[in-house]
Amino acid sequence: MRTFYLETFGCQMNEHDSEKVAGLLMAQGLERVEDPWQADLVLYNTCSIREKAERKVFSRLSEFRRPRGEGKLLGVLGCVAQREGLRIFERAPQVRLVCGSASYPQLPELLARAEAGERRLSGLDLAVESTFETPLVCRDSPYRAYVTIVEGCDKACAYCVVPSARGGERSRSSASVMAEIRQLAQQGYTEVQLLGQNVNCYRDPSPAGWDFVTLLARVAQVPGLRRVRFVTSHPRDFGREIVAAIDTYPVLAEHVHLPVQSGSSRVLASMQRLYNREEYLQRIEWIRSARRQIAISTDVIVGFPGETEADFQQTLSLLEEVRFDSAFSFKYSRRPLTAAAARDAQIPEEEKSRRLAALLERQRAIQLRRNGELVGTVQEVLVEDYHPATGQWVGRTSQNRVLNFASAAGDGRSLLGRYVQARVTRAGPNSLVGESLPDLV
Ligand code: SAM
Ligand code: SF4
Repeated sequence: MRTFYLETFGCQMNEHDSEKVAGLLMAQGLERVEDPWQADLVLYNTCSIREKAERKVFSRLSEFRRPRGEGKLLGVLGCVAQREGLRIFERAPQVRLVCGSASYPQLPELLARAEAGERRLSGLDLAVESTFETPLVCRDSPYRAYVTIVEGCDKACAYCVVPSARGGERSRSSASVMAEIRQLAQQGYTEVQLLGQNVNCYRDPSPAGWDFVTLLARVAQVPGLRRVRFVTSHPRDFGREIVAAIDTYPVLAEHVHLPVQSGSSRVLASMQRLYNREEYLQRIEWIRSARRQIAISTDVIVGFPGETEADFQQTLSLLEEVRFDSAFSFKYSRRPLTAAAARDAQIPEEEKSRRLAALLERQRAIQLRRNGELVGTVQEVLVEDYHPATGQWVGRTSQNRVLNFASAAGDGRSLLGRYVQARVTRAGPNSLVGESLPDLV
């Protein structure tokens, strides 16, 4: 095998896992290609959080049925691999490799066995020491680096496949996290994003025994870093100390992602989320009373089994009360082997769609208002992209907003990776428009 194609579905953690897999394969001498039909090895790093994501993977796999896919080694990685395991070989016989995220360090060995002629290979052991040690990461961005600090999840939300797809919660040692981050800073990365399904449950397994806030404070003091982000925080484990840390260390970005899922305490209890509406709002109050202006984003599920119109209205009222800076909203997706899948009172698809549309409309109006409040302000952005067609640079603010701006100072690629001050001149629901302040570049 000389070339590989790797496509990623799903969350940030999968994106980062793919960076690790690509690094591992490139260290074996394989070259990455952008077209699966040019590749000897075709890998899909999959997501099973919603049925739609899973269906997409199987439809991709079907393209490689014989005779078209002859001669290629087709592999399924990630959450679908872990959950479906060896059943994938029956459902898609053209697949030869199935490997869950905890087993990626075994990939070189599995591929060697495949080359030696073994027909079907799998790495599905969740107990395998996870991929925390990552010397071979091939990072997508030259400015922002992802660093996994917690793997898996010990909670049991009634709708969620994560615990069965990624295993129980395991924290990485603080020494290992700090070593990776110091090295990234030395390599020139200025933004680091700490990753975990519930990142704030971090608990250093080494004798140092740091909690999440201690880790945050130490990371914030690594020379060379300009921004530190962390996702995802679970509301139940979100304490005031996190807000105090953001106030203390300017390097910590002004943004918290705090998934609420529902505004109804009754639904939250039925989801087994371990907090109610009031407790959630209490955390919002802590964040809003910070000295810095901290943006808040969230995830919402509509149409969870048993969700009534009154429950849904409570979600809408929570959106208004919090005025989230952004929200990812999903129709509840019934996932096999989760507690909610077996429940009666499933909500019809059309009703879920209606609720989702109503929620999106409400949130869009909120975002338009919130972004509008920023018109006239000056924001610091990390410049990530340039669109030659419009002559605009694309940057991200500390609050995680996208700001497209024109710059008299910009020539070609010169602003990429730099921190630039830009004045906001217009606001849409999903992004800001502005112009850079030449003196302050
Ligand atoms: N650990 C994070 C938490 O507890 O907030 C979330 C992790 S999950 C990968 C990301 C989001 O997917 C969740 O916040 C939830 O909104 C959504 N999600 C998970 N399972 C879902 C399901 N069965 N149907 C619809 N959305 C789902
Ligand atoms: Fe899934 Fe709940 Fe764990 Fe988040 S906390 S990953 S939603 S089970």
